[in-house]
Amino acid sequence: MPTETFEFQVEARQLLQLMIHSVYSNKDVFLRELISNASDALDKLRLEKLRDDALDADVSDLHIAIDIDKEARTLTVRDNGIGMSYEEVGRLIGTIANSGTATFLQELREAKDGAGAEGLIGQFGVGFYSGFMAADEVTLTTRRAGEDRGTRWTSRGEATYTLQSVEDAPQGTSVTLHLKPADPENQLHDYTSPWTVKEIVKRYSDFITWPIRTVPEAAEGAEAPEPETLNSMKALWARSREEVSDDEYHELYKHISHDWREPLETIRLQAEGTFEYQALLFVPAQAPHDLFTREYRRGVQLYVKRVFIMDDCEELLPPYLRFVKGVVDAQDLSLNVSREILQQDRHIRMMQRRLTKKVLSTVKDFMAKDAERYATFWREFGAVVKEGLITDSDNREAILAVASFASTRADDEPTTVAQYVERMKDGQDDIYYITGDSRQAVENSPHMEAFRDRGIEVLLLTDPVDEVWVDAVGEHAGKRLRSVTKGELDLDAEDGEQAGEEREKQAEEYAGLLGWMGERLEEDIKEVRLSTRLTVSAACVVSDAQDLTPALEHMYRAMGQ
Ligand code: ADP
Ligand code: MG
Repeated sequence: MPTETFEFQVEARQLLQLMIHSVYSNKDVFLRELISNASDALDKLRLEKLRDDALDADVSDLHIAIDIDKEARTLTVRDNGIGMSYEEVGRLIGTIANSGTATFLQELREAKDGAGAEGLIGQFGVGFYSGFMAADEVTLTTRRAGEDRGTRWTSRGEATYTLQSVEDAPQGTSVTLHLKPADPENQLHDYTSPWTVKEIVKRYSDFITWPIRTVPEAAEGAEAPEPETLNSMKALWARSREEVSDDEYHELYKHISHDWREPLETIRLQAEGTFEYQALLFVPAQAPHDLFTREYRRGVQLYVKRVFIMDDCEELLPPYLRFVKGVVDAQDLSLNVSREILQQDRHIRMMQRRLTKKVLSTVKDFMAKDAERYATFWREFGAVVKEGLITDSDNREAILAVASFASTRADDEPTTVAQYVERMKDGQDDIYYITGDSRQAVENSPHMEAFRDRGIEVLLLTDPVDEVWVDAVGEHAGKRLRSVTKGELDLDAEDGEQAGEEREKQAEEYAGLLGWMGERLEEDIKEVRLSTRLTVSAACVVSDAQDLTPALEHMYRAMGQ
């Protein structure tokens, strides 16, 4: 087959340009990305072989090798893992599947400073392309396990890449970087130095569970030494807390989440007893772009006795904790466990309950001990966590305890519902809230006038999910959650009897006007009432207590219902 030349997809080309004119201050990370891909490929092969014994693949010495050629100035990262077919190389390496990429590139153009760009780029799987930070040409040769022929991919990171079918490729993938000319100013980035490579591997990839080997530099005149394994290969979740540095945890996080930032928190859990498992969970520092889209891949990695079983195992955490990343390693599951089994397994359900509680209690700890961390958490993930108020009735109280809301009491100091209840005035029976699109919109609502006037605190709820959970939850500590825009408000009960008499008199006085207005507006409204809620505005529209609020009506309409 002849060599075919293809054009990169537009987004891919843009990302490549970013890599080449490196937006990262730290180029070393390309090695981590290539090793991460190699490790995934080995995991996949082991698993495929486990599922299909007939697969014609050699799994006797699965490993990663790093070869350095000083003369040619090349660095090669090799694995004997699953490899890719011709079609897969074109699809996986030539395009960017991530749907958020367009949005991302847009934002990247808007983020003028380099630091902002680095933060943004971290959210996208640009792993393989990062090789172009260090190389001016990249060659990838691969053969899928079980297939005869291999494929060679080459590119200079410009508009095109070539694909070629090759005969003699070994099983797995090798990626060769033709390194950019040496920078005499910067010895640190000499990737032809085995010492440099070793340092980078130890720093970023020590926890990789496959051996990463390289041949050390030969002493003058001596024979080539034996390959050396650079990483300790110890599963971080199986080691005690004292043994592992925060940096090591963070590198594992980056490997599994494809996020380039540090996580907000690392959560360890060791469950002993009849069903033993270890979990290492991470709360990211920032919500990914696609958290609210259908494409978002949620779930943690599942291992069974140190053997990788699957990515994105959804069964271990509920959807409202879908931003949590991590690893769960169970001792007593079958290596052949399938999604169908997972969905029904009693132990899995127990694990989910335990992990959920652990995450929620971690958030509670933030709240008690680290206000800033809590604020970051809630800003990034609050809107997701609140879904749990609707879907997880078992943990409703625990979720409500860590939920905070803007309120009319203070501009920038959110409150929990429990704190609100503590502050309630004598005679106030309900927890008042208003929902809407933005803080400004709800604060300017005429419905707020009476509350402002009487100094009654109102929760300001501006996430779409707020409309739904307030109904699902209904009350807290015996106090009803009530929308200020719904139904009759008895604010005057608090104003005393005199006000009541006053109202009756007014009602008689205005009966004629109200009747007339009611007739004129018959088509559009149910009833015209005298109101005590307004102090400045002349009139406002109010829903019945059981009606949808305007924002919810809007949401359902937008959904086509
Ligand atoms: P990501 O790892 O986030 O998916 P990458 O750009 O690093 O993104 O890699 C893109 C895809 O290319 C991978 O998902 C994988 O399917 C494939 N790939 C990359 N490197 C290898 C490899 N060494 N062996 C097999 N497949 C690979
Ligand atoms: Mg990758």
